[in-house]
Amino acid sequence: MGITETDKNNRNEQHRRKNFRKRPRWHNRQVEYKSCPICGKSVKSMLTAIAVNEEGDPAHFDCVLKQLSEQEKLAGGEKITYIGNGTFAVVKMKPGSRGSAFTVIKRIQYENKDLKADWRKRISKRIKK
Ligand SMILES: [Zn+2]
Repeated sequence: MGITETDKNNRNEQHRRKNFRKRPRWHNRQVEYKSCPICGKSVKSMLTAIAVNEEGDPAHFDCVLKQLSEQEKLAGGEKITYIGNGTFAVVKMKPGSRGSAFTVIKRIQYENKDLKADWRKRISKRIKK
């Protein structure tokens, strides 16, 4: 009894399946989102997240902005804006500038500068590439 055509096909099929199993199973990869300490919802975009508190937990950029806007007693024409490096600022828009020109009234160092949150380190690595 020789190897029939069906047997050959079965072997090929088995081989293919074995190779297929070696492929990474992306759908099984668990992505764990941290939840925002301000609103409690998961933070899905780390690129726009702001590190809050001692642990450097990520919070939504919008939540931090809202929180700061409520904390600071903003006068007319003033608003909170992000000026980079974990720093927000109370700024006063210059009349007629359409939001492109402003004067910094108060700087708010929001992110702990000494703290290098893991998730942020990973992101800066990715960006540098
Ligand atoms: Zn939030």
